[in-house]
Amino acid sequence: MRIYVDFDDCLCETAKAFTVIAKDFFGKDVPYKKVRFFNLQQSFDLTDDEYEKLMLEGHRPEVLLSYDETPGAVATLNKWIDEGHEVSVITGRPFSAYEPSRQWLDEHDLKRAKLFCLNKYGRDSFIKNSEFNLELEDYYKMTFDIAVEDSPMAFKFFDHMPDLKVYVVDRPWNQECELPGDNYMRCMSWDEIDEQVKVV
Ligand SMILES: [Mg+2]
Repeated sequence: MRIYVDFDDCLCETAKAFTVIAKDFFGKDVPYKKVRFFNLQQSFDLTDDEYEKLMLEGHRPEVLLSYDETPGAVATLNKWIDEGHEVSVITGRPFSAYEPSRQWLDEHDLKRAKLFCLNKYGRDSFIKNSEFNLELEDYYKMTFDIAVEDSPMAFKFFDHMPDLKVYVVDRPWNQECELPGDNYMRCMSWDEIDEQVKVV
């Protein structure tokens, strides 16, 4: 099978790291469970300027490398690869974050997972004129059997694959979102995702 896996808040605990940055930089004390919006500017109630600073800090290589693994992610991906499945990590991070993102995967024993940067969030991008190494038209030529994603804003990238099984990692910012179809399933952990993939 071909498997699409999102990076932030699927493989690693990005939003938790951002709550620390928001507190340290701007005194915004928003616990992870209160991060109700995928848009962190909204979740942390930041000005445009503060939001840009937050995102730039969160994308510094040292900071990207420090993100904790989401429990079970690495073991599950390696198991799938061992079974012969093709795992592609498709992140909405800009290409300027590619090297540290690749390094994070390598350091977490995920050397065999492919990595692509896709402009998932369009104009929301905080780095002006960001570049991405995967063009949308090339993304749409790719097909997947399974996807693991946390962001409701990224679901539109699955519309062209009606048979795709989408496992939505349960996060505070997607709990009120209605899942777009029967092929979507909310999962509380990587163990649960792994169990579901066994029965696909
Ligand atoms: Mg994500």
